[in-house]
Amino acid sequence: MTHNTKVKPTELKSDGILVKCGGFSTQLSKHVTGKIDGDPLWGSRFDYENPSAVIRTHLDFLESGAQIILSNTYQSSVDGFMKYLHLSREESIALIRSSCKLAKEARDMYMKNVTECKGISEPVLVLGSVGPYGATLHDGSEYDGSYATKMTRHEIQNFHRPRIDALVAEGVDGLAVETIPCLMEAEAITEMLLRQYPEVKFWVSFQCKDDLHLANGETFANAALSIWNMVKENNKYNPKEKIFGIGVNCVNPKFVANLFKSLLRNETDLPPLVVYSNRGEIFDSKKGWTGAENCIPIEAFVPEWIGLGASIIGGCCRVYPEDISRIRKCVNSYTSETN
Ligand SMILES: [Zn+2]
Repeated sequence: MTHNTKVKPTELKSDGILVKCGGFSTQLSKHVTGKIDGDPLWGSRFDYENPSAVIRTHLDFLESGAQIILSNTYQSSVDGFMKYLHLSREESIALIRSSCKLAKEARDMYMKNVTECKGISEPVLVLGSVGPYGATLHDGSEYDGSYATKMTRHEIQNFHRPRIDALVAEGVDGLAVETIPCLMEAEAITEMLLRQYPEVKFWVSFQCKDDLHLANGETFANAALSIWNMVKENNKYNPKEKIFGIGVNCVNPKFVANLFKSLLRNETDLPPLVVYSNRGEIFDSKKGWTGAENCIPIEAFVPEWIGLGASIIGGCCRVYPEDISRIRKCVNSYTSETN
């Protein structure tokens, strides 16, 4: 494995739009025989059981044009690995680190191939996925944020710290704090990152239940501004050095434009926006994903998202490499028109 392809986030064009990978577990399910949806560790189990499938999944997205990939650590936790894989604490931390290694290995393999074929390759970022506390409860609370009133900021920070430490120690290019259902958790993680991890660049992405509100009921506009103000207080002169963006993920794509407009309505000083929606299907715990026949292709939404200021665009659940390829084409055509 080579490390000479590592890129500092600041080396990327700040005015460019970057394409993120799609739904990792969605694509991973094509490469493994075990069931992923419904497993208490979701896709994270396969860092342990089938690391080559994890690398193959990253490569699928890279070969489809993703410029940002996320470690397969959305649902990884020390407690979860100890409970469900019967690992020790140290082994659990090592497994989180190895998830980053798999992502970096895929990135290095991809960039080596592209460089050999084309003589040049574009930078690819490997970010550590930091899913919400609720994901590890395995009771759906990541989609309602109901734990927000039962826990303190300090408890939330203590939950997130071991995984963040492992991701940072492994040298990720930043963190994707994602699918966060409640403002309290986003503020707790942001506060911790700004104070205790000053070198780490990150994004904060919320899970929203409609075209105005977070899963837990706060408005997206207020939540996004709260995080943006925390970042600006921390870095008055160049807050965008600190944060890739603030946005939404695993939401229905039809909600995104209104969510962004709600933020744009009264503000002129705004963060870069991040969006990686799901396909627009509905998850039913008995039937699985339903409603595929009613979905509009995600790339159809992309021009409007770009018009509203999205600077990182990708996919979440049920968004496949083929979709990422079409999103990338759409972004490319936009950037070539405006250059
Ligand atoms: Zn998702």
